[in-house]
Amino acid sequence: MLRRAETNGARVLRGASARGLARDGERWRVSLPAGAVTAREVALATGKHDLRGHPRPSGPQGDLVGFKMHFRLGADARGALSGRVEIGLFPRGYGGLEPIEDDRANLCFVISQAALAASGGGWAGAFDRVRACSARFEALLADATPLFERPLAISRIPYGLVRRTTEGPWLIGDQAAVIPSFAGEGVTFALHGAALAARAMLAGKPAAAFQAELARDVGSQIRLATALSRMIVHAPVQRLAQLVAPAVVRWLAGATRLKAPSPSSAAPVSAARG
Ligand SMILES: Cc1cc2nc3c(=O)[nH]c(=O)nc-3n(C[C@H](O)[C@H](O)[C@H](O)COP(=O)(O)OP(=O)(O)OC[C@H]3O[C@@H](n4cnc5c(N)ncnc54)[C@H](O)[C@@H]3O)c2cc1C
Repeated sequence: MLRRAETNGARVLRGASARGLARDGERWRVSLPAGAVTAREVALATGKHDLRGHPRPSGPQGDLVGFKMHFRLGADARGALSGRVEIGLFPRGYGGLEPIEDDRANLCFVISQAALAASGGGWAGAFDRVRACSARFEALLADATPLFERPLAISRIPYGLVRRTTEGPWLIGDQAAVIPSFAGEGVTFALHGAALAARAMLAGKPAAAFQAELARDVGSQIRLATALSRMIVHAPVQRLAQLVAPAVVRWLAGATRLKAPSPSSAAPVSAARG
């Protein structure tokens, strides 16, 4: 995607961390380690990290901490996981394990701050909770070798946040809206927001109109996913979830998905530009 952007005339700066963003007359000024760039419009797409001076409001479910680790699984577990995503629920959290490239497996899970503190405050105790969430997870992770020295971790994720307007920058991806991770839809929403913003900019629409349109496209899915996410971290609901028919789960999962693209985003960007 970066290569295509460059081919289409974009100047791509790699490894240049934005330190600040402020109004400079009619333009925006982005401070970089080696100077600054100015622009008429600016899109804020820093994902999970807020740019100094531009904090996001907290979301309705803001007490979860996320962990990610890659593993080399044992041979039996690799076979058992092939082509699947395993979701496991445990008191005050949930996680997913899936095969990825190079014969590795990716484990991501979220756990409430309180449960993390109760299990020792670090990766070891939290991982024990995930492993013990079911006999299936226990077996899959039994001979797993971690491939990072330390897990990646993120706290204060504003799950459920949907920003309906903006005071200037075009807000894209997790800066605009954050769907709970179990939905597996965050990347789709981020790409949809980027395409919508590109078309809106080319059509000369103001940032606030784009922000309202994006919020309309993803708002109900995020509301539903957040309500489910708040429920499924509770043990009684987890027991109930085991009794729910697969058809109901499929319907609920479908309701968190991006619906058909809105009319303004249906045409390719190059066509909109033409
Ligand atoms: C535990 C967990 C599990 C998840 N699982 C899934 C899943 O299975 N499927 C799914 O679709 N989504 C999942 N998500 C959500 C998904 O990761 C995000 O929704 C998605 O990555 C958002 O895209 P983005 O472009 O907004 O942000 P990111 O993908 O975070 O990209 C932001 C980019 O901005 C850069 N950046 C940040 N600050 C600066 C700065 N100051 N200057 C310059 N560059 C900067 C970063 O380096 C990064 O490259 C999960 C999230 C979590 C926390």
